[in-house]
Amino acid sequence: MEICDELRSFEATGVYRLDGTGTSTGATFLDPVRLLNGSYQRFRVVPSAYYSRSFEPPRQLGDPETEQPEKRKKRKRNQKPKPKELNAMERIAEARHQEARTLLLSAHESLIKDKYLLEHLSKMIEGKEHTLDVGSGPENNFIELGTSWRAPFYEITICFRKPLVLGNGEGSFHAQRTSFPLFNSIISVEAIDEAEGEFQNKRYILPRGSCFLMSDFKRVQDLIPGSSDEGYNLIVVDPPWENGCVRQKEAYPTLPNRYLLYLPVQELAHTAGALLVLWITNREKLRMFVEKELLPSWGVKDPTVFYWLKVKPDGSLIGDLDLFHHRPYECLLLGYINVNTDAKQELNFKLLEGSQVIMSVPGAHSRKPPLEKLLSEYIPGPKPPRCLELFARELFPRWTSWGNEPLHFQDSVYFSEK
Ligand code: SAM
Repeated sequence: MEICDELRSFEATGVYRLDGTGTSTGATFLDPVRLLNGSYQRFRVVPSAYYSRSFEPPRQLGDPETEQPEKRKKRKRNQKPKPKELNAMERIAEARHQEARTLLLSAHESLIKDKYLLEHLSKMIEGKEHTLDVGSGPENNFIELGTSWRAPFYEITICFRKPLVLGNGEGSFHAQRTSFPLFNSIISVEAIDEAEGEFQNKRYILPRGSCFLMSDFKRVQDLIPGSSDEGYNLIVVDPPWENGCVRQKEAYPTLPNRYLLYLPVQELAHTAGALLVLWITNREKLRMFVEKELLPSWGVKDPTVFYWLKVKPDGSLIGDLDLFHHRPYECLLLGYINVNTDAKQELNFKLLEGSQVIMSVPGAHSRKPPLEKLLSEYIPGPKPPRCLELFARELFPRWTSWGNEPLHFQDSVYFSEK
């Protein structure tokens, strides 16, 4: 594809394949806002609300103006001089990093060389700083509300626009308001376009064809479909891994790694096969647990690793590629469930072939870019695929989103009306 065609396609889809420019890195640049906006007709995701971190004033480490005293103390405690020698685990992690490094550098180089894309990138983030609705109050804390004794009594009222066929044959719509228990109940948005939910004076924009279950891990079994051909073809899992990062601890609770062994992934997979995507952190101990215990227990063999390389609006990396504890990239492990990968001739999808690099400007802390478009050709089973995100914080059309706060990024403060 010519660069101009690729850019045009990027404008429409939010996906820019850098391989088209002559490199063979399997590198793709994503614009999550464009990808998300494909899901909405009457609303749009506001770039400055999505890319909120790019709008924050740069924080100086150790700057007393911006750093809270508690954090300052913690940082000092953590500032013990590091032993020069790496321990055995760190050496394995370093070897993995060296393996990934060439691919990451080559992908990043292809981004930096692409002056058209770079120009686009700076425009993508452009815009006024997003001001939240005055008087709309703080965002609802679903994690807290879901654990309160009142949780069974909370209801969300959803206004759906449903089709109406008039006597003269013309189509119109009527609005229907329905209340649902907010926690522990599966809610589907069947309407002609996005629906609007109301809960505790806050408004939520719900894409057409999305579905969600807001519950704790203990109730994840409620997602298992009645029959296995109603299972999912794409399953994305983004667990709240235990991690020393203070910022993460403040953002959401974590789960002990071993709990993940109880996720009913096989029961959730479609009989015609599923592509499983698992986000992991760069901790070597976690990677070993995932490869040796977790993925085998879910029936996933020989995973392929993809990398998400995070860049700034000017195209540079968000941090030093070689900084040991703060890599500017995260890993995703991908593999198949219920698919015989040897029976190539019978497959109606492309098998994963080697590592790929996804690049994007990151949004809020721990928010991952939408993956369905990028992965569509690798998803087995009927088309369009049935998709599921476990530990989700947002909704997509045709996806089921589960977690203890799947409405988090659906708050109307992240949207504007078209
Ligand atoms: N994929 C999300 C995104 O892109 O924004 C980020 C998910 S974040 C890594 C993990 C999520 O798991 C958080 O929303 C957290 O609140 C949720 N979580 C933590 N403990 C949970 C539990 N016991 N049951 C359900 N969800 C839980």
